[in-house]
Amino acid sequence: MRKAVVGAAVVGTAAVVGVAALVVRQRMKRCGKWARAMALLKEFEEKCATPEAKLKQVADALTVEMHAGLASEGGSKLKMLISFIANLPTGDEDGIFYALDLGGTNFRVLRVQLRGRGGVVHQEIAEVSIPPALTGGTSDELFDYIAEKLANFVAEEERLFHQPPVKQRELGFTFSFPVMQTSINSGTLIRWTKGFAINDAVGQDVVVELTKALKRKGVEMRVAALVNDTIGTLARGRYTNNNVYLGVILGTGTNAAYVECAQAIPKWHGPLPKSGEMVINMEWGNFRSSHLPITEYDHALDVGSVNPGEQIFEKLTSGMYLGEVLRRVLLRMATEASFFGDEVPSKLKDPFILSTPDMSAMHQDTSSDLREVDNKLRTVLEIRNTPLKTRRVVVELCNIVATRGARLAAAGILGILKKMGRDTPQEGDRKTGIAIDGGLYEHYTEYRKCLENTVGQLLGEKTASSIVFEHSTDGSGIGAALLAASNSL
Ligand code: ADP
Ligand code: MG
Repeated sequence: MRKAVVGAAVVGTAAVVGVAALVVRQRMKRCGKWARAMALLKEFEEKCATPEAKLKQVADALTVEMHAGLASEGGSKLKMLISFIANLPTGDEDGIFYALDLGGTNFRVLRVQLRGRGGVVHQEIAEVSIPPALTGGTSDELFDYIAEKLANFVAEEERLFHQPPVKQRELGFTFSFPVMQTSINSGTLIRWTKGFAINDAVGQDVVVELTKALKRKGVEMRVAALVNDTIGTLARGRYTNNNVYLGVILGTGTNAAYVECAQAIPKWHGPLPKSGEMVINMEWGNFRSSHLPITEYDHALDVGSVNPGEQIFEKLTSGMYLGEVLRRVLLRMATEASFFGDEVPSKLKDPFILSTPDMSAMHQDTSSDLREVDNKLRTVLEIRNTPLKTRRVVVELCNIVATRGARLAAAGILGILKKMGRDTPQEGDRKTGIAIDGGLYEHYTEYRKCLENTVGQLLGEKTASSIVFEHSTDGSGIGAALLAASNSL
């Protein structure tokens, strides 16, 4: 009996020892997994590092590519497209002008009243979604639809404003698809993107197509300028500050346009414009360089994208991709280091489920217990009960991804300032203006602050005070109307 009790006691002790060992083992395993997660974090951080010296190399590489793209067609990954815009708005434009902004699933019609000296009274009249059937139909169907809406808009305008019908309405057309520009108001469609597939429009002049449709519908409008959102942003910035030389879009995608000396464009064989200047649409999203800090996550994202090997700079910097890079890092940490517990959260496997607005909400969570991080993890990824230290790591990862993107965009801006010879203090106290627009710049405050500070750091104290950032709101709409004004008959 006694023996048995002793035996039981022994068994009991063994069981206690066994449970304790299990607990220790589990703890060690957990510690091991946490250590593994931290190692993945550290490795990612190191690979994303953008020290000043690296950023300057990126800027220099961009400048080299700018030269190559200006020298000959196809001379560089940077298209450096000639916009045919030699005259940006002066701020003295006066009158009523119109814009048609066609960028994807919607188009907008704007009526913009200019009052000279940079004043804008703008009235957005219509935002219309394009019926999906029309995105795969014929060119006539699409442009007839747009012209019909413009006709309605003109009728409504006459009713609302009781204005004497303008003899000739001048329209700026923002068409955000790849176009080979042939003059300020003509250009042929190279290919459709964003799900459009209207085959008979490819190779056609989109302004001719629109103009024919306007005629068919009896709308008196002349397309005075064919532009894209980036050039619109530059024009919008120039209208209020005539020292703006650079326009940047940081939204779903990214692009930049700047004012080049017409004489410094070897591939331009046309007459030199009177202004001596020419706006160049860089299409900088397609920039790539061995100096860019590219990780295995970026590589995998690129390989799985609809345009592998293309738009590499865009994939590191713009709103479409930042959240997706973060998701990929979190997925690896969940898979290899049980970062969110023993099971890998299934939602985390869905590409693009984590948007950049979600990421910025987590990044900018200032609550002590990181409630917004918890909220996003729960609602977007169905991950519950995360400990605070896990949430802190998530914020750290957001910071790494956003910082890299913003600092690279800053390096791009430095490259352009260098090409323009504006990376040193300018004569007098006129500051070089940089007009920026896009949802990423507008809403992701940490990103914007990092971008602006980095440009300042890279330029050095003396030059930093000779540049100024202008948030160029609605460049793609108002900017197009402004260009219609500065290029009106
Ligand atoms: P687009 O570039 O498509 O013309 P926008 O300039 O409005 O459109 O930019 C939209 C993009 O901006 C979104 O795809 C998103 O990536 C980014 N964005 C919008 N809101 C936020 C936000 N709150 N935080 C971070 N990024 C945002
Ligand atoms: Mg836009």
